[in-house]
Amino acid sequence: MSKASRPEFGDLVAVVTGGASGIGAAIARRLHDGGAQVAVLDLQPEAADAAYFAVSANVADDASVRAAIAAVAEKFGRIDIVINNAGIGAHGTVADNDDDEWLRVFNINVVGMARVSRAALPFLRKSPSAAIVNTASIAATAGLPMRALYSASKGAVLSLTRAMAADHLREGVRVNCVNPGTADTPWVGRLLDSAADPAAERAALEARQPHGRLVSADEVADAVAYLASPRSGSTTGTSLAVDGGMQNLRLRPE
Ligand code: NAD
Repeated sequence: MSKASRPEFGDLVAVVTGGASGIGAAIARRLHDGGAQVAVLDLQPEAADAAYFAVSANVADDASVRAAIAAVAEKFGRIDIVINNAGIGAHGTVADNDDDEWLRVFNINVVGMARVSRAALPFLRKSPSAAIVNTASIAATAGLPMRALYSASKGAVLSLTRAMAADHLREGVRVNCVNPGTADTPWVGRLLDSAADPAAERAALEARQPHGRLVSADEVADAVAYLASPRSGSTTGTSLAVDGGMQNLRLRPE
């Protein structure tokens, strides 16, 4: 097969955490469509598409993560791509969450990415085309109201991404992150359902993004695929905003 016709991710094995829902499910689909063999690590592996190797894993628990990564390596004999996507939300000002909630969210959103990366690195170092992509957020780069804890966790993901990119560049492991704006996923669906007026809440979230709508999970997945691709060998330590212009644009009112 000529290089031009070889699938973009042909021969590569990708791990997607949180790949059973929303953005993670779209990423798993995109990488699989591109020819990768995909392993989904999720609290709810039964919800993952049957095309993937779904493993029960809790990124908040080191033993669970190590067992899941070992299962993927045993199944496929290699790991080339890690998508650290599993994450949870948190609501409120800095005064609203107690220490337990701060530690719980950081344990999943930040330490979870460290655990999965740490377990996978011995395999990534052997890959001809290793890449880690972390799911950060617009909350890492813009001050959003009532998101103090969540924003702090995603700011940590952005900094962690850059530090990891520096540490592992010479080992052939690229590390980048994607910063989605508010995306149309089951998570945001749950947020809207809990609002007093879901339609008004949705309209407010749409209006907050300069392009006037929510980001789609597939748009985020395409950006992640770019960052993970063997064709992106010169891209490391970056964050790619997929936010309809929310971070960088200031439009005049219509
Ligand atoms: P989602 O709730 O639809 O999916 C999250 C998935 O992660 C679920 O399958 C869930 O089971 C899994 N998960 C949660 N905790 C886990 C754990 N401890 N171990 C393993 N799996 C776990 O959410 P989503 O909207 O697709 O969000 C995915 C990522 O995108 C998160 O990191 C989130 O912070 C980020 N993000 C989302 C938005 C948005 O607007 N939806 C915007 C920016 C960033």
